[in-house]
Amino acid sequence: MLRAHNPDDAAKPAVRVWRYIPIVAASCLGRVDYYVCCRDVVGASMHWHASCGERGRLLPHLIDRTKCRGCIDALGTRWRGYLGCWHLGVQRHVIAELTVDAMRNNFVLHPLEGHDLRGRKLTLARTGRTKTSPVRAEVTQPFADISQWPNEFDVRSQLAHIWGYDSVSPICWLDYHEGM
Ligand SMILES: [Zn+2]
Repeated sequence: MLRAHNPDDAAKPAVRVWRYIPIVAASCLGRVDYYVCCRDVVGASMHWHASCGERGRLLPHLIDRTKCRGCIDALGTRWRGYLGCWHLGVQRHVIAELTVDAMRNNFVLHPLEGHDLRGRKLTLARTGRTKTSPVRAEVTQPFADISQWPNEFDVRSQLAHIWGYDSVSPICWLDYHEGM
């Protein structure tokens, strides 16, 4: 049965409203390009909760260890970096996830180098055929004209939101450094 026509429906723009900016990891199926919107990599110390959900989940280590579920369960930590990007294929913001492998050979991404990453292209791939193969990241020089570039956004608040926190302050943010 057809729905009665509601004149209000026609006035609504056909824009999908996304609740979260998704985190995207490198794929073992091929290289993916992202256009970097944010200035630097946001790092965090993470716990892998294997029993969370169907496939397990990475959740942040908290500054207060007595409130950190990962520490309470004696889970190890691993570092992850997050870079705010635009995905041209799906026309939306994403947060690209970087591993220590990806950072190790790519000095442009290192916080101490002080490079502004906005306006560059990031390419992520895995060097092997499995989901856990090492990640390789390539970063171009900045594009000459970024006046039409997608907006910058606050990666820390987005991540806190994704991980279920109202504020960024409980999370143990951690910049990448040599020897991780
Ligand atoms: Zn912890």
